[in-house]
Amino acid sequence: MHPDTLAVHLGSAPDPVTGAVASPLYLSTTFERSADGSYPQGFSYIRESNPNRRALEQAMATLEGGAAGIAFSSGMAAISALFLSLKPGDHLLAPLDAYYGTSKLLREQFVPWGLQVSFVDMTDLAAVRAALRDNTRMVWLETPSNPLIAVCDIAAVATLAHAAGAVVACDNTWATPLLQRPLAHGADVVMHATTKYIGGHSDSMGGLLVVKEAGDTSNRLRAIQGSHGAVPAPFDCWLALRGLRSMPARMRTHTANALILARFLESHQRVERVHYPGLLRDPGYEIALRQMPAFGGMLSFVVRGGRAGAFEVANRLKLFTRATSLGGPESLIEHRASVEGPTSRAPEGLLRVSVGLEHPDDLTADLLSALG
Ligand code: PLP
Repeated sequence: MHPDTLAVHLGSAPDPVTGAVASPLYLSTTFERSADGSYPQGFSYIRESNPNRRALEQAMATLEGGAAGIAFSSGMAAISALFLSLKPGDHLLAPLDAYYGTSKLLREQFVPWGLQVSFVDMTDLAAVRAALRDNTRMVWLETPSNPLIAVCDIAAVATLAHAAGAVVACDNTWATPLLQRPLAHGADVVMHATTKYIGGHSDSMGGLLVVKEAGDTSNRLRAIQGSHGAVPAPFDCWLALRGLRSMPARMRTHTANALILARFLESHQRVERVHYPGLLRDPGYEIALRQMPAFGGMLSFVVRGGRAGAFEVANRLKLFTRATSLGGPESLIEHRASVEGPTSRAPEGLLRVSVGLEHPDDLTADLLSALG
């Protein structure tokens, strides 16, 4: 079946006990043992597992084409668990352009812990090859990237990484499994912040890892999930699964709107540069065409006039909310350099947009009036 159809149905079969079409929410923290001491349904205690969490994990594993899904309380908890599965002294290759929270986590938590980390431009294969070391155990990818919406060639990086004995893990939050399936391109682990497009309504938080094959890595990640305890509440799993059901329709609208806005912005004289892989002249266009069926709902653009120019435009917008995060129905705009602070790599004039589900005519009219 097409992934869009799977997303509508996975984990959402009518309840066999009551016939309820919408799945029940299981809040119980503990589960009854049978007389012989076993747990016939496979659930014992909420930190270990829960029916809503298991349904989400299985749905995401199927959508990504992996062997197992492992859910966490946030995207950052999922990323932390993955890095914790490495050992002090191991080397990790991470992208120069990536979610700021991930770079900060690596610099401030994992480098002092003993992880060796090199940041490299993942769109430059020669640079990736040169940065690999004998002790490189993982290459971390994020594509499309944050905030420059750069697209890296997952298959080409995976070939280099595997030849060096490293696994490849990919943050697929911005693309979702409907627009990009990293495991099919050679990655070994996929990560999601379900807080974004999967939840889809700016009202729930969660993270998820999907591993390609069951084995040492998935066992280690499952053990970290249970013993560190950064697990999602049943309601957040329920909301994420509910979000999956409408995600195909939402992603089509996000993508169509983003392309319209990117083309509009590209034609405006006040805009210096638009980053969106769906634009013909974008450096990521060719790779995105091979790797993704559509280009997604995130774009960024650089306003002439630096920080002051960007603030002026953001403040004049009426329909776009000035807020961080992404993937909800409402369009959001954000000046990344001021959110990230002095170590930010984002250009001062850059505004990042999570393109929402509003009518594109209204979004374009708002941008036109704000740009002047
Ligand atoms: N990965 C990406 C690409 C993100 O954009 C974010 C958050 O914005 C995260 C990971 C972290 O997710 P969370 O906020 O759920 O911890």
